[in-house]
Amino acid sequence: MAGLNIAIAGAGVAGSYLGHMLQKMGHNVEVFESSKRENHWAVCAWGASRHMLEKFSVQADLDFDDYIFHVGKSLRMDLPNNSVEYLDLIGLVTYDKHRWEHDLLKDVKVTYGVRCTSDTFPFEKYDYIIDCTGLHRTLLPRSEQDFLIPAYEYLLENVKGIDEFQVIAYAGASGYFWYFPLDRGRGYMGAGDIKKKYFGVKEFFEQHPEAQIVRKIGRPIRLAPPKRMEPFFSGKVIGVGESIGCVFPMLGEGIIPSLICCDIFLDVLGNSAKSGGTGNGKGGGKFDTNRYRKMVLDRFGYYDDVYRIIRLKMEGKLSTIKHMGLMMSMYRHMKKEEKRFGFEISLDKMTRLVNAL
Ligand SMILES: Cc1cc2nc3c(=O)[nH]c(=O)nc-3n(C[C@H](O)[C@H](O)[C@H](O)COP(=O)(O)OP(=O)(O)OC[C@H]3O[C@@H](n4cnc5c(N)ncnc54)[C@H](O)[C@@H]3O)c2cc1C
Repeated sequence: MAGLNIAIAGAGVAGSYLGHMLQKMGHNVEVFESSKRENHWAVCAWGASRHMLEKFSVQADLDFDDYIFHVGKSLRMDLPNNSVEYLDLIGLVTYDKHRWEHDLLKDVKVTYGVRCTSDTFPFEKYDYIIDCTGLHRTLLPRSEQDFLIPAYEYLLENVKGIDEFQVIAYAGASGYFWYFPLDRGRGYMGAGDIKKKYFGVKEFFEQHPEAQIVRKIGRPIRLAPPKRMEPFFSGKVIGVGESIGCVFPMLGEGIIPSLICCDIFLDVLGNSAKSGGTGNGKGGGKFDTNRYRKMVLDRFGYYDDVYRIIRLKMEGKLSTIKHMGLMMSMYRHMKKEEKRFGFEISLDKMTRLVNAL
């Protein structure tokens, strides 16, 4: 199914990777991004698993080593009961997400400063329109079950005496504080908190008066998983990435899930091409929306268990006995995907964390 006219709304991680990959497959791609080019920033703490990003980078002809800022060894996690856990890191890095995304789009037609809306978008010009607008999901209907957590962060420089990943988990699973080191004394410090108290941010500035603020950025993060973010489609529009809930709810971590979702999209598009059929007359069958929906729901199925754990904790209703099934589902799936997360998955530590929240 080569030579389709495809528009992508949003040049974040999903939009830039898909833009690159679709153009490489021979499609005519146009990306529309609401921010102006000079203001466009990858709002995120830029932390993810090296193993996965190496894989996606190879597919997209980039050398991931060129983008790595910091390779983590251990993550300090302060718990609400005043205990501290250390997680061994197995590939968790911070990287230059901004440059990675911009390099992917180097040869792709991108129009910046255009906010796509359902009322104004020229749908008739394209075979498919991909909604990669993340949180906004601008071209798709709202979901009744959506759930967002407010978050903001600072890009800091001149930070001294801290060069590892740190988080402070909040009681009642209301969110967490983070410090993610970048390079040369730079780092992202911020918090997501349903109660908007953001404990740790003020304290960090008190402990690090030398830290200088380069920029303050923020937006809420979607915690509702794909199962709760349907529909994935509206006419010719197909949602990919955070727009359809591809974020790991325990951590608000969406880089790798969004890229996994992109690969599912590319796989289904490739298979639709092979299947022939009536379609749109451009050398292949129609994009198989049923298959895409099923693959996304299957791949991210256990995210709903994780989401339920978080919501039950927030409501003070999580019982380790009654909800043992949910807890074991989260552990088993995470353990199987340890490398994808980039940190050790230990049942003991996970249990202590959940109990302490
Ligand atoms: C403060 C913060 C820290 C985070 N830290 C991490 C982290 O360290 N690791 C991790 O894995 N995840 C992190 N996340 C989550 C992660 O950033 C997102 O889940 C991921 O970027 C989603 O990718 P996406 O491409 O689907 O959407 P986005 O990356 O959000 O991209 C959406 C793009 O669409 C554009 N856009 C929006 N509306 C329109 C419109 N109407 N028309 C055109 N363009 C539009 C936006 O400007 C943006 O460029 C963080 C999120 C936040 C808010």
